[in-house]
Amino acid sequence: MDVSIWGVRGSAPAVGSQFVGFGGDTCCVSCRSGDRLLVLDAGTGMIRLGLQLETALPARIDVLITHGHMDHLLGLPFFGPLSRADAEIHIWAAFDPAALFSPPLLPMSLADYPARTEVHALAAGTMEIGPFTVTAAALNHPGGALGIRVSQGQGSLAYLPDFEPGDLAGDSAAVALMEGVDLALVDATYTPAEYAARQGRGHGDWQTAGELAVKAGVRRFGTIHHQHTRVDTDLATISGQIGRRWKQGFVARQGETYALGG
Ligand SMILES: [Zn+2]
Repeated sequence: MDVSIWGVRGSAPAVGSQFVGFGGDTCCVSCRSGDRLLVLDAGTGMIRLGLQLETALPARIDVLITHGHMDHLLGLPFFGPLSRADAEIHIWAAFDPAALFSPPLLPMSLADYPARTEVHALAAGTMEIGPFTVTAAALNHPGGALGIRVSQGQGSLAYLPDFEPGDLAGDSAAVALMEGVDLALVDATYTPAEYAARQGRGHGDWQTAGELAVKAGVRRFGTIHHQHTRVDTDLATISGQIGRRWKQGFVARQGETYALGG
């Protein structure tokens, strides 16, 4: 499967010339296999994904949302395929996304869009979605958030954009999701120094993210959910720090695609 990164930011989009290197859109990652597309989170990066699908609409699109915080939903109402009558879109969430598609947040409901849409409950556990085997598990985050593992053929991805390490149950769930994957994308909102002053907010730092990923035996890991105020030069510094410590670690960048299992 081809895994593409459409958004890497946490909390809010980052706009301006200081953010173009690593990208300013909020979290969205896609997994493509044949004519099926799995989308992980509906951050603003999903808008760019929709534009790319204009000329290559998959037979069916499944959107899995890790949790209902705005940075993981903002792109959904503006996802181009929702405006196409020939699109089939399934939305999976642990909450009812109808709350987003209603006044005063939006003037239209999901049923007002031309696409054929269906909403499903997403819970911890393993299921098959077309060619993808999907495992979801609860992580440590205020209000709850799911981490997701996707396997297809020989390829595997773990996507854990929002979680705070240090909680025994949450950490073991995170390690289990990441175990032996080709690529793990892990919350590193903070630097280790920043984290000390921000405990309890539901996010981690790159050092702990790397330690957990390495403990899980991942082939590669990329930090994601970059703080929206973190400029490219600072992310480049962090990239150097990660690279010196772990050869398999990097800072995730919007616009990259990884062919996993091929
Ligand atoms: Zn977030």
